[in-house]
Amino acid sequence: MNYRIRALKNGECDVRDYITFQDGGEETSLYNLYIWLIEGGEAPMIVETGVSDVEGFSRGTAQYIPGGVRQRPEERTLPLLASAGVRPEDVSHVFITHFHGDHYDSFHVFGNAKMVASREGFPGTEHLAPRVAEALKEPGRLMLVGEEEALPGIRTFHLGVHSACSQGIAIDTAVGRVVLPGDLVYKYENIEDGRPQGWSDVNAWRAAADKIRQMGDIIIPAHDPAVLERWPGGVIG
Ligand SMILES: [Zn+2]
Repeated sequence: MNYRIRALKNGECDVRDYITFQDGGEETSLYNLYIWLIEGGEAPMIVETGVSDVEGFSRGTAQYIPGGVRQRPEERTLPLLASAGVRPEDVSHVFITHFHGDHYDSFHVFGNAKMVASREGFPGTEHLAPRVAEALKEPGRLMLVGEEEALPGIRTFHLGVHSACSQGIAIDTAVGRVVLPGDLVYKYENIEDGRPQGWSDVNAWRAAADKIRQMGDIIIPAHDPAVLERWPGGVIG
């Protein structure tokens, strides 16, 4: 099974380097927010939902994301997917790398999708955004996974760093097995130069980074604008 992944830009912001790197300071660097569209299966799937509560997210992160998230109207989750030819009701699975707002809080707009999240560290639906919790009350909407082939050609694996529920997703494509590691790897420098992210236990981070390297051939950082330069048009595979 070979899929194709498309990086869809959901917004951008400036993040202080002490978040990005263990040894970073007060300076900032540019982050993109992404929704990853997986095409080539029976139905479109996505990894991460994009942020729905931009103001709330920006307020909660103001200390280390000065100025907050900038999101153009066409970058919002639904118009963004529409521009890629995807209707939300057609999405079959929504993989969540972890439960921070920018990664999961638009799940409720995918009315027929199963959420695929890590069993280990799962926070419990009552701790999620109210509209997402409501959507998950419908039977069969939540698929909790461990280290397994969750769907043909798509492997999930628990990481537990950055967030207790963090998981990576490894997706078979024509260019190799592509790993979406979530927020353990914000930028290419984290994984390529072995620079642990800020606010993490360095040893735990290094062990998780080894796991990420072992799980695939191509690692795509969660927030690096350079993804769109290395993969023109954001097309991977
Ligand atoms: Zn993030």
